[in-house]
Amino acid sequence: MNIDQFRKRFEDETTCRQFIESVLWRHGRYCPHCHCSKSYALSGDSVRAGLYECAQCKGQFTVTVKTPMHSTKLPLWKWLLAMYYIINSSKGVSSVFLGKWVGISQKSAWKLGHAIKKMMDPGMELVPALQGIVELDEKYIGGKPRYEQGVKHKRGRGTEKQ
Ligand SMILES: [Zn+2]
Repeated sequence: MNIDQFRKRFEDETTCRQFIESVLWRHGRYCPHCHCSKSYALSGDSVRAGLYECAQCKGQFTVTVKTPMHSTKLPLWKWLLAMYYIINSSKGVSSVFLGKWVGISQKSAWKLGHAIKKMMDPGMELVPALQGIVELDEKYIGGKPRYEQGVKHKRGRGTEKQ
């Protein structure tokens, strides 16, 4: 995908959110609080788009709850754009350039790159931060798979993550 196609594909926040939902909930939507798979979309003028309520714990959530995307004030398209740059650069992207391209400070870009790396491989959380440089080979993006009894989720090339 080139940058023009990217802009067309992710033209607004709704599209970005729906895309992230399709990746993180590809096996079905589930509550991040209790992992229940029954939930309802909330609607109404005062309700933010993409908000769901769990049928079991009554907790409310969006697709970004309990992901690194939730705690930042960055719009989702900036997250996706940063992922786009990181994925498309074989040598890694410095936080200086990432900040310039995404339109955020170098400090924010550093955090962003780090968070993206974390989302790409949960096992990487333990690896000490690479100073300002994000280097990646092949990546599979998505949250930790839901726990299912007797099912072992494969990592790396065997994964079903996108
Ligand atoms: Zn719940």
